[in-house]
Amino acid sequence: MRITIFGTGYVGLVTGACLAHSGNHVVCVDIDEDKIARLTRGEIPIYEPGLEQIVHESVASGRLRFTTDAADAVAHGTLQFIAVGTPPDEDGSADLKYVLKVAQTIGEHMNDYRLVITKSTVPVGTSDKVRAQLASAVAERGVDVEFDVASNPEFLKEGAAIDDFMKPDRVVVGVDNERAAEHLRALYAPFNRQHDRTIVMDIRSAELTKYAANVMLATKISLMNELSQVADRVDADIEQVRRAIGADHRIGYHFIYPGCGFGGSCFPKDVRALGQTAAELGYEAEIINSVERVNNRQKSVLFDKLRYHFGGDLTGKTIALWGLAFKPNTDDMREAPACTLMESLWAAGARVRAYDPEAMGETRRIYGERDDLTLCTDGETAATGADALVLVTEWHIFRTPDFDALAGLMNTPVLVDGRNIYKPSYVAQAGFAYYGIGRSAAS
Ligand code: NAD
Repeated sequence: MRITIFGTGYVGLVTGACLAHSGNHVVCVDIDEDKIARLTRGEIPIYEPGLEQIVHESVASGRLRFTTDAADAVAHGTLQFIAVGTPPDEDGSADLKYVLKVAQTIGEHMNDYRLVITKSTVPVGTSDKVRAQLASAVAERGVDVEFDVASNPEFLKEGAAIDDFMKPDRVVVGVDNERAAEHLRALYAPFNRQHDRTIVMDIRSAELTKYAANVMLATKISLMNELSQVADRVDADIEQVRRAIGADHRIGYHFIYPGCGFGGSCFPKDVRALGQTAAELGYEAEIINSVERVNNRQKSVLFDKLRYHFGGDLTGKTIALWGLAFKPNTDDMREAPACTLMESLWAAGARVRAYDPEAMGETRRIYGERDDLTLCTDGETAATGADALVLVTEWHIFRTPDFDALAGLMNTPVLVDGRNIYKPSYVAQAGFAYYGIGRSAAS
C-alpha cells in the first residue's frame, strides 16, 4: 500500500519504518527541516532500540523516504497518517493546532480519494474537526475530492516501540464506514498473523480508548505510589506488599512498581487532557484529577528524602544522579522525575553530577552549560566525590554496581533508590545509608 505519515517523532518514525518493513511504500513528512535532513543522511534523531536498522533497511529497499514537501507527501499515499504532537494547552487540554494544520495541508493538496487517519492521541470529537478542516480546505479550492477519516490510536511504548508495533496487543481502528475499515484491516493484516488483534469500533470510542488505557495505567502507578507513602509512614515495606498483592490475578504484577513518579510525553498530558475534557462537559473526574496530583507530589519524594537525610540543608552538597531519561531505553526527558529533582536541588543550593546512557544530549539541550551540573562519562565518575547517590532511572547498567567500590569513591555513602531495585540489607553492608520508596530499612 502507499502510505504517508505526517510527523517523524517517536510515533511517526516508528510507524513509517515498521509499515515500510512489512512491504508498504512509505513517505514520512515533517516540517522540521533539520530532522528530515538528518534522516535523509541516515541519522536517526531519537534513540529507540532496533529503529536504526529497520529504517536503514527500508530506505535501502526503496520503500521508505523522507521529505519536507507536503504536496509530494499528499500525492504519494492513499492512506495519510497524522502522527504529529498534541502537547498540553495552558488549561491542560490537548492542543490540536498541529493536527488540524496537517488536515488543512492534506485538504489543500489532495486530488483523489484519501483516507486520513489520526494516530496522534486526540480528544473525543477531534476526527469531526479533522473532517471539517479537510472539507473546508477542499471546498476552498472549488474541487470535489472524496475522503474518509479514521482514528487509529497508537499504543507503543518508547524503549520497546518496534516490538510493540510489530507484535501489538491490539490494533484499535475507529471508522464510520466499511471502505475505511477495509483499508485498515488490510494494512494491519501482516501484524495479525497469529490471531486477529484488530478491534474495529466507532470513531469516538477509538479516540476515548487511548485515553482510557493511559489513565488506567497511570492510576495503577499513582495508587501504588500513594500506598508507598503510607508504607513509609507505618514502617512497612511496600516491596513485600507488592509481591503479595500482585499474586492476585485480578491485580497482577504489571504497573504496580512504586517509584518517583511517572513522566514522559504521554501519561501526564493524557491524564490532564481527559480530566479537562470531563470538566468541559461539567463532570469533575475525581479519580483522574487525583492521579495527576499524587504524581506531582511523588516527583518530590527523592528530594524530600535527601533533605531529610541532610537535616533540611542541601547547600553546597554534591548529589550524583544515575539516570535522567523518564524511563530506561529512551532518551526522552519530557516530564522526567530527574528534571524535577535537579531543579529542586539547584534551588536548594546543591550541585548535580549525572550520568545517563542515552539522555545526556537531551539534558545538555534542555539545561545548557551550568556550573552546578556536571555530565559525567559513566556512573562511577558521577558518584565520585558525591555526598549522596540517587538512582532515578532503572537502566540495566545500574542494576548491580560494586557497592564497596562505590562507597570508597563517594564523600559520604548515601543511596536514594528511586525505583527500589536494590536490596536494602545488601547495600547497608557496604556502609550505605539506604532510602527506598516505601521501604523499611530493615528489609
Ligand atoms: P514528537 O513530538 O516526537 O513528534 C512530532 C513530530 O511532528 C515532530 O517531528 C514535529 O516536527 C512534527 N510535526 C509538527 N507539525 C507538523 C506538520 N504540520 N507536518 C509534519 N510534521 C509535523 O511526538 P510523538 O512522541 O511522536 O507523539 C505524537 C503523537 O502520538 C502525540 O499525540 C502523542 O500523544 C501520541 N503518542 C505518543 C507515544 C509516545 O510514546 N511518544 C505513544 C503513543 C501515542
